[in-house]
Amino acid sequence: MSPDFADTFAKNNMTSETVINVSNLDHFFGEKTLKKQVLFDINLAIKAGEIVIMTGPSGSGKTTLLSLMGGLRSAQVGSLQILDQEMRGANKGKLTKLRRQIGYIFQAHNLMTFLTAKENVRMSLELHEQYLNQDINTKSIAMLEAVGLGDHVDYYPESLSGGQKQRVAIARALVSHPKIVLADEPTASLDKQSGRDVVELMQKLAKEQDCTILLVTHDNRILDIADRIIYMEDGQLKSDGVDMRIKLN
Ligand code: ADP
Ligand code: MG
Repeated sequence: MSPDFADTFAKNNMTSETVINVSNLDHFFGEKTLKKQVLFDINLAIKAGEIVIMTGPSGSGKTTLLSLMGGLRSAQVGSLQILDQEMRGANKGKLTKLRRQIGYIFQAHNLMTFLTAKENVRMSLELHEQYLNQDINTKSIAMLEAVGLGDHVDYYPESLSGGQKQRVAIARALVSHPKIVLADEPTASLDKQSGRDVVELMQKLAKEQDCTILLVTHDNRILDIADRIIYMEDGQLKSDGVDMRIKLN
């Protein structure tokens, strides 16, 4: 299928509400005798504004699936439609374009240590052409105020607590109003209360911006913020749409 045709095909097959549509997706690492399959026939649709939590044992393929959805690696087999674009076989240009439309929050906050909180947030806006004519300084400060860090805008990451750094990461991810936020174990290094604060903040901002969140976690204490919980095991999606809270608690 030509890339153009694949996109038209993807558009016609998605309802306007679906922002992520995965069908029959496999993924392999390595080559030849070292080739190993890590994702098996994944099928999943996520709607605009939904908060979906993905859980499951370590090594089950959660990060791999997230990195494919975020355009951090190229999908190989099956179909992966993100924001109306078919990403299977996507080239570098297409992956880069997708990455600009997505907010990422990782376990380790991944802030630039040599930039202040404000500069970290501003950097995310500098990647977007549509913000170049706007006052990105004011926008960055407003976003830091929204995550409760209005009095820490000029702090460097090393002077912030774990929870504060993760809040800067949230501000950085959401300041450009992405349609999708992908978060990989964002509360893993936080204590109970900071973890709770961080996800509640994500939930609040996402609902305000009508943003879709896919959040990977092992943290049973935050499952209640999800609209839906999905479960991965051995590279397979074992449960989609079933309420797993009873099982996990
Ligand atoms: P999870 O996030 O659920 O812990 P991952 O997606 O990180 O799982 O890993 C799934 C499987 O893929 C594991 O067996 C892991 O060892 C393997 N894997 C992950 N990344 C790579 C890579 N870059 N190269 C080779 N194997 C990988
Ligand atoms: Mg992982």
